[in-house]
Amino acid sequence: MSLSDFIYKMPKVELHVHIEGAIQPQTLLYLAKKNQIDLPAKDVVGLREWYRFVDFPHFVQIYLKASTCIQTIADIEFVARDFLANQAAQNIVYSEATWTPHTHFQQKGLSYDDQLAALNRARDWAKRELNVDMGLVIDISRAGTTPDEALIIAQWAVKNHDNGVVAFGIGGQEVAYPPSLFTAAFDFARANHLPILPHAGETVGADSIWSALKDAHATRLYHGVRALEDDKLVAYLREKQIPLDICPTSNVCLGVVPDIQSHMLPKLLDAGLYVTINSDDPPMFNTTLTKEYQLLADTFQYDATMIEKLVMNGVHASFLSDAKKQRMADDFTRQFSTLQKS
Ligand SMILES: [Zn+2]
Repeated sequence: MSLSDFIYKMPKVELHVHIEGAIQPQTLLYLAKKNQIDLPAKDVVGLREWYRFVDFPHFVQIYLKASTCIQTIADIEFVARDFLANQAAQNIVYSEATWTPHTHFQQKGLSYDDQLAALNRARDWAKRELNVDMGLVIDISRAGTTPDEALIIAQWAVKNHDNGVVAFGIGGQEVAYPPSLFTAAFDFARANHLPILPHAGETVGADSIWSALKDAHATRLYHGVRALEDDKLVAYLREKQIPLDICPTSNVCLGVVPDIQSHMLPKLLDAGLYVTINSDDPPMFNTTLTKEYQLLADTFQYDATMIEKLVMNGVHASFLSDAKKQRMADDFTRQFSTLQKS
C-alpha cells in the first residue's frame, strides 16, 4: 500500500479541532440562507477568498460570523453531526473537540445546558451510527469573556465533567488577553480536576506559553509552537512531557510561519518535545487531518513509522481513561500492521 493510502485509511484521533471552525462551506452557506445571515460570500469559492488571512483579528471576525450562522439548538446538533460524520469519513475514531458556548449565549441567548444537550445528542448518534466518539473542550474567548463570566463557565464545565465535557480551554486573541486575567476560572477547574487546555504560543511567543503553564495550569497546550524561542521553556516542556497539539497548516495560514517548509515541527521533535498533529479549523484552512499527515510526509519525508508514532502520541495524550487508551493503542497497532501488509 502506498504511504498516501496508508495515511488515508489509518485510524486516527484528533485533539485540537473546533466544531464551529469545522463547519463545511456548503453547510455554512445553507445555514446562512436558512437563518437569513448576511455572509460576505455567496459560494464556496467566495468563502475561500474571505477566509484568506489578513491578520488575527480578521480571523476572529470570520470565526464569529461563522458562529452567527448557527442560530438554534437544532442547528447546533446539525453542525455537530456534520462534524462527526466528517471525522468518521477520515477514520478519526475519537476527537477532543472545542466548543465555545458563551458565544452562542451572547449572540442568541442559547443556554449552556441546551447547547450541551444538543452536542451530546449528536455524540450519541455518532457513537451508535458511525462508531466514533468525541469529548468536548469547553472554551472561552479571551476577548469576548469577562473574568466573572469565565468563572461561571468553568463551574458549569466542571459540573458537566463526564457529561461529555473533558476539559476547559481558552482561545482567541493572545495579544492583550493573557491567561492571568482569568486565574479564578483556571484555579477552579484545576481544584476540581478538570484538565485545562489553553491556546498559547501562536501569535505571542514564550511569555504566553509560560503564562498558560503557570497561570492557567495547562494540562496540554494548543499550538505552543513558539516554545523554541526560550531554551528554559523547552527544557521545562521536555521534562514534564506536556503535549503540544499543533496544527501545521493553521500556522501557515495565520502567518505564524511563512510556509510549511519553515514549520518548526522537526525542531520540536528533535528537542524531545511531545507533539500531536491536528487540523484546528479545517475548512477555514482548506485542510483536513488526513491532509495534515500527508503534508508532513511530503514536506519532511516522514515514513509510515513516523506517522504512526505521531498518531499514537495523540492516543496517549488524550483525556480518555488509561484503560481506554490502552485498548485504542492495541487496536491501532493491529490496524497499522494489517494496513502495512496489504
Ligand atoms: Zn485552535
